[in-house]
Amino acid sequence: MLLNEPNTRQSTSLLPASTRSINSYLRVQATHGKRKSRRYGCTIAIIGGGFSGTTLAAQLLHGATASLSVVLIERRPYLGRGVAYATRCAAHLLNVPAEKMSAFGDDPTHFLRWARRRLGPHVEPCDFLPRSLYGEYVESALLEEVRQHLGQFEWRHEEACAITCAGESLDILLHNGEAVRADRVVLALGNFPPSDPLLPGRSNLCQRYVPDPWAENALDHLTPADSILLIGSGLTSVDVAVAARTRGFKGTIHILSRHGLLPKGHRLSAARASICGLESFPPTAHGLLRWVRRQTETAEVRGFDWRLVVDSLRPFTQQIWQSLPYAERQRFLRHLRPYWEVHRHRLAPEIDVLVASEISSGQILIHSGRITAFHEKSKGVEITYRDRKSGKLESLRVECAFNCTGPEVDCRKVRDPLLKDLLSRKLACPSPLFLGLQVSEAGALIDSHGRASDLIYTIGPARKGALWETTAVPEIRHQISELANHLFASCVQNNSPSPGSAQGAVTTEAGVEVLGHGTA
Ligand SMILES: Cc1cc2nc3c(=O)[nH]c(=O)nc-3n(C[C@H](O)[C@H](O)[C@H](O)COP(=O)(O)OP(=O)(O)OC[C@H]3O[C@@H](n4cnc5c(N)ncnc54)[C@H](O)[C@@H]3O)c2cc1C
Repeated sequence: MLLNEPNTRQSTSLLPASTRSINSYLRVQATHGKRKSRRYGCTIAIIGGGFSGTTLAAQLLHGATASLSVVLIERRPYLGRGVAYATRCAAHLLNVPAEKMSAFGDDPTHFLRWARRRLGPHVEPCDFLPRSLYGEYVESALLEEVRQHLGQFEWRHEEACAITCAGESLDILLHNGEAVRADRVVLALGNFPPSDPLLPGRSNLCQRYVPDPWAENALDHLTPADSILLIGSGLTSVDVAVAARTRGFKGTIHILSRHGLLPKGHRLSAARASICGLESFPPTAHGLLRWVRRQTETAEVRGFDWRLVVDSLRPFTQQIWQSLPYAERQRFLRHLRPYWEVHRHRLAPEIDVLVASEISSGQILIHSGRITAFHEKSKGVEITYRDRKSGKLESLRVECAFNCTGPEVDCRKVRDPLLKDLLSRKLACPSPLFLGLQVSEAGALIDSHGRASDLIYTIGPARKGALWETTAVPEIRHQISELANHLFASCVQNNSPSPGSAQGAVTTEAGVEVLGHGTA
């Protein structure tokens, strides 16, 4: 049975296939001469059109008066997908049940209702649906708002490379040499790309090392009987293993990481109860660990398991992180982080079962240790590592190795032109523990002099230093609505026409020119 649809937000409809993507919709409007994007009043530019940027654009349009325009700058040929939801592998499932994946905190069943209309009434709140479907949902939520606010939205299919101040406004320099002028800019850049792990002996020319497992062609060269090594044992590694099997790869998959810990699985029957007594938390990393252990024992007596404790902590993790002194945050990162990650970021039950059966049949082999040597041979790679338990040197021979160490968090190590530009102009600086960027409570960038910007903001993983948990939809959607409100308020205060729009410098006629910046 369909749930009641609240009237807080128009329900994202299932549009005809021809207009289901923003791309095709804008193109159709342009062809019919209906779309004219003119900018008056305040222009908010969002860089990054993954979940965060696309949903923020939808929120802004939803609450926009006629004087607000939104420009979304995304280098990929689609919106709403980013890294997580761009996958074409149907076996890549969400790791959060459908009932918790609404893009909008004020309408918790929005995704579930959409999924039921899309797939049928059999979709259950506890289902772990395909990630590619979720990308479709995020895009369609924006499209619904774009249809209501046609002249107020523009997508620039480009890479943003730099931001310069232009009086009260900002100019965003695009890779094609053009500039977008805006009154406020939001960086929704997602996770930083992975850095290469230390692999002594690996040459930069090595053909048997895949630095980016998310690259379109990352698995193209696998032959069914190869054996491969996945460096890192988190969600990325499991994703690559699942994608390889889906493509018919039958060889052995070695997974190697320092601790050899794989993400735990969700349980379908997971209790929805919450443990009580969460008013105050121990102010130390080890105190927290003891607290979690005690709560787990109590939960077990009540017939639950540790999942209940970890899930109950979720609404409080940002508060706990912020209340920990600096040295305790460091201690947490050094000693507890890997254990927290595998319990907190879990696998969909179906994937958990698959991985467990491959481990028991020996098709997936888990190793723990530190890599000491990496040598490319004529027919493969030889990897030597020091085993964590025995302390002995062990070696593995595989056809190919994948970097599955997950996203980089230290912005100083990232080669992204925009981030490098922001750091070099001192408009941004790393957070004290080198976890993303330093930001104010509202998500404003803090410059190298410690001043919070009133023009540039960020959402999502870049706020990790301030919030710790800021990766998944349930946390990010909260930031999105807070930031949207903040931007509305600050744009109303400063609602003068932007110089760019007055001169028409970035105002574009609808059509191929707008969409034609490489749009697929
Ligand atoms: C494999 C994977 C699976 C996940 N599964 C789940 C899940 O099941 N549930 C959940 O809640 N969370 C999941 N997550 C967490 C995920 O990070 C968030 O759900 C969400 O996708 C983050 O969105 P984002 O927009 O912040 O980042 P992203 O999705 O990474 O989007 C950032 C976008 O910015 C663009 N961009 C970056 N720099 C520029 C630039 N300079 N110019 C133009 N464009 C730029 C990129 O092209 C990208 O499209 C998963 C993450 C990954 C990596």
